[in-house]
Amino acid sequence: MSIAMPHKAVWLINYIFGEKIMLGLMQNWPLTVDKIMDHAATNHGRREVVTRSVEGPIVRTTYSEIHARAKQVSNALLAEGIAHGDRVATLAWNSGRHLEVWYGAMGIGAVLHTLNPRLFPEQLVYIINHAEDKLIFTDLTFLPLLEALKDKLATVARYVVLTDKDHMPECGLKGVIDYESWISDHSAQASWGGFDEHTAAGLCYTSGTTGNPKGVLYSHRSNVLHTLLTMQKDVMGLGARDVILPVVPMFHANAWGVALSAPAAGAKMVMPGAKMDGASIYELLESEYVTFSAAVPTVWMMLLQYLESTNSRLSTLKRVAIGGSAVPERIMRLFEEKYGVEVLHAWGMTETSPLGTLGSLGPEADGLSHEEQIKLKLKQGRPPFGVEIKILRDGMQAPRDGQTFGNLVVRGAAIAASYFKGEGGDILDQDGFFDTGDVATIDEHGFMHITDRAKDVIKSGGEWISSIDVENVAVGAPGVAVAAVIGKYHPKWDERPLLILEMAKGASSTKADIFAYLDGKIAKWWMPDDIVFVDAIPLGATGKINKLALRETFKAYELPTALVS
Ligand code: ADP
Repeated sequence: MSIAMPHKAVWLINYIFGEKIMLGLMQNWPLTVDKIMDHAATNHGRREVVTRSVEGPIVRTTYSEIHARAKQVSNALLAEGIAHGDRVATLAWNSGRHLEVWYGAMGIGAVLHTLNPRLFPEQLVYIINHAEDKLIFTDLTFLPLLEALKDKLATVARYVVLTDKDHMPECGLKGVIDYESWISDHSAQASWGGFDEHTAAGLCYTSGTTGNPKGVLYSHRSNVLHTLLTMQKDVMGLGARDVILPVVPMFHANAWGVALSAPAAGAKMVMPGAKMDGASIYELLESEYVTFSAAVPTVWMMLLQYLESTNSRLSTLKRVAIGGSAVPERIMRLFEEKYGVEVLHAWGMTETSPLGTLGSLGPEADGLSHEEQIKLKLKQGRPPFGVEIKILRDGMQAPRDGQTFGNLVVRGAAIAASYFKGEGGDILDQDGFFDTGDVATIDEHGFMHITDRAKDVIKSGGEWISSIDVENVAVGAPGVAVAAVIGKYHPKWDERPLLILEMAKGASSTKADIFAYLDGKIAKWWMPDDIVFVDAIPLGATGKINKLALRETFKAYELPTALVS
């Protein structure tokens, strides 16, 4: 137990046993996340956290109030018998109350498990039982969902609804109580931290597009280090003057860390609750003077459509982080060229806490034209200090030439070393790198570009075709709403690309029109061997194209080129 041992004692033991290490003589200050909220309350206590509540009205609170109420949560949890390492779950939108539950649980060494309501019900049941959640905090929105699942949730002893008594509906969930009543009798004095910084703090399951979802178990230390690395100037560069609107949910890898980095920076937070449509987000951006926001491309698309259709402008927003899937060029150009907002293209995954790389430009971009800069910004960017990435091709490190693509592997201060309960076995290679399942290139300046998921890349005659690159071009063709490319068997080339298109209502483009559009925009040998039109391309729980389902649908399909060769 080196943590409990004072430095002097460690030094004395080393001295007596003659070990040749000299320890530094600095304080032992365990990196635990309770210190983040302590810091925010002490030094930025009056900074606001504003929420569009699920009940309707805008609710205003401060870090100082959140801190006090989070301590009430800690006491209420202790009164429920929640101990170190116990999992408590939240099924909730971004809100001030949700923050209180986070810090209240993590502060006493319980593990905060965020549940993604967009998962299929049977996946939620699996995850809750696998995590053995003892308590679930939920928004009113999800009561019907939990009522439907409750008989299958063996470990949950109580449900706390994030509302007050006046808004509590009739409800048959076990031990159900409204949040305000649940915390009301508890003191705002509680002891936080004081445990090993490697203690588990949070649990988040991967979306599980293949097999069962797997749990990523963040530690206090990894969360604090991730917070520090995302605050770097070339990453999110957050400060006390910022007003941050995390549209990305707290159940999506800690709102990309913003639930921790905003209080660490003393920035004002604006929480959108359940409403993420263009008009609602726009209203909050303007009325709360938001300077920085983070969301997946689909959310930004809704906002931009709203701005375009209402001829509105953005008066305070300076920067947006976009990730989760590749940023479409149209979104990049509208933000940067029309609305004067800097786009930070981010790549990451649940296993990387989630930030892996971010597309801030450095001095190497100074001499580039605007068009070249846009091209560079469409790449996923460079890793911040604290993250290492490399590309492996057949097990060997690929050159950093921006051309050679291979498997992207990652190592760092906040990257998963294994999954909860050992699911999936050993996930690190002999050098301690984690295989992301993504295929990418890295250029001479360190800019990484995702070209595919390893399972989606099309292997044609020993060469790799990026399904994403072809999709990104195809989606620009007139009338195309969604484009997906999958590999199909070919006797000569092993695999060739099949382009599947969902067209916008009333669009009249033909196969020949699409081929003509693609001609010259992609390499000749990347040209799809066929194009098919479908009514709807299936999407998964995180809004990404479900290629597994598409492959199933097109199982029996044969390429016309395969038949003739
Ligand atoms: P999330 O829930 O954030 O989508 P997952 O762990 O489920 O996280 O998925 C991570 C995967 O999403 C990455 O491995 C990658 O394939 C994809 N992804 C994330 N960001 C980007 C990006 N900027 N460009 C392309 N793909 C991305």
